[in-house]
Amino acid sequence: MKNLTKIFFFFSFLFVYSCSQTIPNLSYVKKEVVSYYESGGYNKEVEEVVNNAIGQFKSVETSDSSAVIFDVDDTALSYYELGKSISFGYVPELWDKWVDEETVPAIPQVKKLYDFLTQRGFKIIFLSGRKEYNYNGTIRNLNSAGYTQFDTLIVRSRDEYEITAVDYKSSKRVELTARSYIIVGTIGDQWSDLEGSYHGIQVKIPNYIYCIE
Ligand SMILES: [Mg+2]
Repeated sequence: MKNLTKIFFFFSFLFVYSCSQTIPNLSYVKKEVVSYYESGGYNKEVEEVVNNAIGQFKSVETSDSSAVIFDVDDTALSYYELGKSISFGYVPELWDKWVDEETVPAIPQVKKLYDFLTQRGFKIIFLSGRKEYNYNGTIRNLNSAGYTQFDTLIVRSRDEYEITAVDYKSSKRVELTARSYIIVGTIGDQWSDLEGSYHGIQVKIPNYIYCIE
């Protein structure tokens, strides 16, 4: 009996100190995400998505009104390093500081897709959930990351702050279509970038850090 008690406590000790639980431990999940992004897994996945998208856009005819919509954060620009530096939390002051510093890099594979589309003559529109006071910093950062050729950047005006992402983005695509743009594709890291009206070809860039519904 004494031995059985010892065995019970030994396995209890192992259970507690190995962090075994019924759902994944957050620290392990973060390590797994970092490993995926830094071991080449994420890059390979984005490359496949982009190559597939290029194949689809090759068969689309270009007209003077043909446009492709790009999301900004974690689509055109990568916030991975900022996210990692704050353990994948969200600190609004740091976010605004990063936007103003204009040093956020492009996701290279998405930049490759952008280059392909601009060379084919598609108009590019950036449609972002960022707020109006980030407008100038966002324009400068897009330029510094190599996105120098686009028709317009759309950000949320003050009265649009509370609209859901899918409603906001979809309503902007309706407005763009009313202004005679023919939207042939939409590129974003969230399904809320891609769902709703007038999205054309949907290109979903992977994002394992957050989800915007
Ligand atoms: Mg995004």
